[in-house]
Amino acid sequence: MRRTPLAITSALDALERAGLRRSRRTVTEGSSPALSRVDDRCVVNFCSNDYLGLAQHPDVTAAFVRAAQTFGVGAGASHLVSGHGSAHEELEQALAAFTGRERALLFSTGYMANLGVVGALAERRTHVVEDRLNHASLIDAARISGAKLTRYQHSHVEDATRRLVASGDDDALLVTDGVFSMDGDVAPLAALASAARARDAWLIVDDAHGLGVLGATGGGSVEAAGLTSDDVPVLVGTLGKAFGTFGAFVAGDAELIEFFLQRARTYIYTTALPPAVAAATLASLRLIEGEPWRRERLHSLIARFRAAALRENVPLMPSSSPIQPVLIGDDRRAVTVSDRLFAQGYWVGAIRPPTVPVGSARLRITISAAHTDEQVDRVVEHLAAALRTTHASI
Ligand SMILES: *Cc1c(COP(=O)(O)O)cnc(C)c1O
Repeated sequence: MRRTPLAITSALDALERAGLRRSRRTVTEGSSPALSRVDDRCVVNFCSNDYLGLAQHPDVTAAFVRAAQTFGVGAGASHLVSGHGSAHEELEQALAAFTGRERALLFSTGYMANLGVVGALAERRTHVVEDRLNHASLIDAARISGAKLTRYQHSHVEDATRRLVASGDDDALLVTDGVFSMDGDVAPLAALASAARARDAWLIVDDAHGLGVLGATGGGSVEAAGLTSDDVPVLVGTLGKAFGTFGAFVAGDAELIEFFLQRARTYIYTTALPPAVAAATLASLRLIEGEPWRRERLHSLIARFRAAALRENVPLMPSSSPIQPVLIGDDRRAVTVSDRLFAQGYWVGAIRPPTVPVGSARLRITISAAHTDEQVDRVVEHLAAALRTTHASI
């Protein structure tokens, strides 16, 4: 038998010693935020991104089952060969209408959408200007593209502008999360849009956590900022979060989308999303459009969580999104608090480097419209108690 190279064993040991080794819990039944069975116990899930409680909605699961019976489970090929079906087509049109754009293109995941979009637009001489706290897939997208990547201080428009200007006459892309995935704050989109326009740079917004949740009709952080496709020409959305399904899309002008269809490698060289996932997502989009109470309920629970946390002296970050991080700092303490909450029936993820900067380990609490008032009140109480009785390991 081949021996494991020492470097691998010692890398794993180093993670263990630093308190950075990660492990998985296994969900055995139900993915509703309000109740999941995990490792054979029932817990309230405060770390899922199913913000509107749609992943298990009967309309969504019924659409999935029906489409699987009609089309089969697998798409069988990539979109440009024979994998593109009427369910994909219908969903793309509905997503374009929902985001107020001419056209949308489905990708298999948000990670792949970002690689595809940045990769298609960036050439070697392009400067890709990114927020420091952008999602890993956007950073990787710029790195893999071979373009010049430069990262500005978080949400710092002057720093972004300075870097855009420094790129001289070369092409530039300005790239940001709409809602930052580990902090929950919203990017200063209006100011970034002006900066991009002044420099004639493409602005790409990845609104994975804003779509369905922010804006009057759930159109996301771009809608909430009162911006249009003129301001934000490239909008990436993911379907695995508020939509409760799986996959991603990019929306924009028809010609731009046609360009991605022709040139985005992660669109061309991969199997199409299962058609049943597209059908389920269409059902979920109809609920997002037709049941605004889900969004209202979510925002009232977010306000309830923040008010309770304030009363209990739980330190919050400036977020009005469903992502409510509690900064801990120390990696081991973050895990200790998370483990204690789990033992009490509340599943809250501890997020450590490299997902977040060193020294900023945190609990990432996510609120869902599926939670009850009582569940939100209780998690804050248990959290406050755990914070009072645990201390940093150093
Ligand atoms: C989750 C996420 C992605 C990745 O989407 P997947 O569909 O899960 O691959 C991309 N960008 C941001 C900001 C995200 O939060």
